[in-house]
Amino acid sequence: MGKILVTGAYGLVGSQFKGEEYERIGSGDLNLINQKYIDDHFYWSEKNGDLPEGIIHCAAKVGGIQGNMNGQGQFFYENISMNTAIIESARKFGIKKFIAFLSTCVFPDNVEYPLSPNKIHLGPPHQSNYAYAYAKRMADIQIKSYREQYGVNYFSVIPCNIYGTSDNYNLESGHVIPMLIHKMHLAKKNNTEFKVWGSGRPLREFIFSEDVAKLTKLLYDNYDGSDPVILSTSEEISIGSVVEMIAEIMEYDGEIIFDRSKPDGQYRKPSDNSIIKNMFPDFEFTPIRDGLRKSISWFNENYPKVRL
Ligand code: GDP
Repeated sequence: MGKILVTGAYGLVGSQFKGEEYERIGSGDLNLINQKYIDDHFYWSEKNGDLPEGIIHCAAKVGGIQGNMNGQGQFFYENISMNTAIIESARKFGIKKFIAFLSTCVFPDNVEYPLSPNKIHLGPPHQSNYAYAYAKRMADIQIKSYREQYGVNYFSVIPCNIYGTSDNYNLESGHVIPMLIHKMHLAKKNNTEFKVWGSGRPLREFIFSEDVAKLTKLLYDNYDGSDPVILSTSEEISIGSVVEMIAEIMEYDGEIIFDRSKPDGQYRKPSDNSIIKNMFPDFEFTPIRDGLRKSISWFNENYPKVRL
C-alpha cells in the first residue's frame, strides 16, 4: 500500500502528520507551482514503485489579514497554480484520494450564517483576502468537475482559523494568534507597547492544528462524499477575549492598546460543522486555553528559531 503524500509538511498543519504512513514534502523539496516538477516527481515515484496512495495537500501561500492585503497578486498566483497543478497531476497518475485545504475565508462576505459547504460561491468574498479566496474557490470547482468527469475520490476541507505550534510568527504577515504571542513576548522583554490590531470585537472560531490533522486523517479514512467538509469547533470567541487569555498564560500585566488604524476584517464567520459532528460525535476538540498553552510553550522553547 502506498504512502499518503503530505505537502507543506513543515507548516502549521502539515507538521502534525507524523508517522510511517506519510511521505512528507516541504517547499524546499518540490516546487508545486510548476506542473512539470510534480509530474516528474510522480513519474519517478511510479518507476520506483512508491507512488502515493493519496495526497493531503496542505501547502499554500497563506497569511493573516495584512499579509493578504499586501500580497493579493502573489496569493492568487501561487495558490491557483499550486492547486491546479497538483490536482491535475494526481488525477493523471491515478492517485486514489486527494484532500485540498480551503478556509472559511473563501465564503462570501454577505451571506446567511452559519457558513455551510453549499454557500461557497454565493457572492464575493471579503475584500481583505479576495484573491486568496477566489484562488481557493477554484480548487473546489476543479475537484467538483474532476469528480464528475473522471470519477475521482477527491474532496476539500474548510478549516476555520487554525493556530498551533510551528506557526508563522512574522509581525506583519502572520495570523492573529502567533502574532499576538510574538508581540507580547517582545513587549514583556523590552518593556515596549503591546498593540492589538483593530477593535478586538471581531469574532472568530479557532481550531488547534493537532485537531485539524486528526480530523483530516479520520476523513481520509472514512469520507468519500463530494461536499467540502467544514473543520471547526463552531464556537465563536472575540479577538479581545483571545488577547486576555494569552496575556493570562504569558503573565503579561502591561497595557493592552487597540490600534484602530489597523483593519478588523470580516466581523464574524460562524460555520456549520455538522458533517464532522455527525461522523465523529465523540471527537474531543482541544479547548482553546489548552491549545494556547501548548502553542506558547512551543514558542518559548523555540524562539528565536521560529518561522518569521
Ligand atoms: P482573518 O481571520 O482572515 O481576518 O485573519 P487574522 O488571523 O489575520 O485576523 C483575525 C482578526 O484578528 C482580525 O480581526 C484582526 O484585525 C485581528 N487582530 C488583532 N491583532 C492582530 C495581529 O496582531 N495580527 C493579525 N493578523 N490580526 C490581528
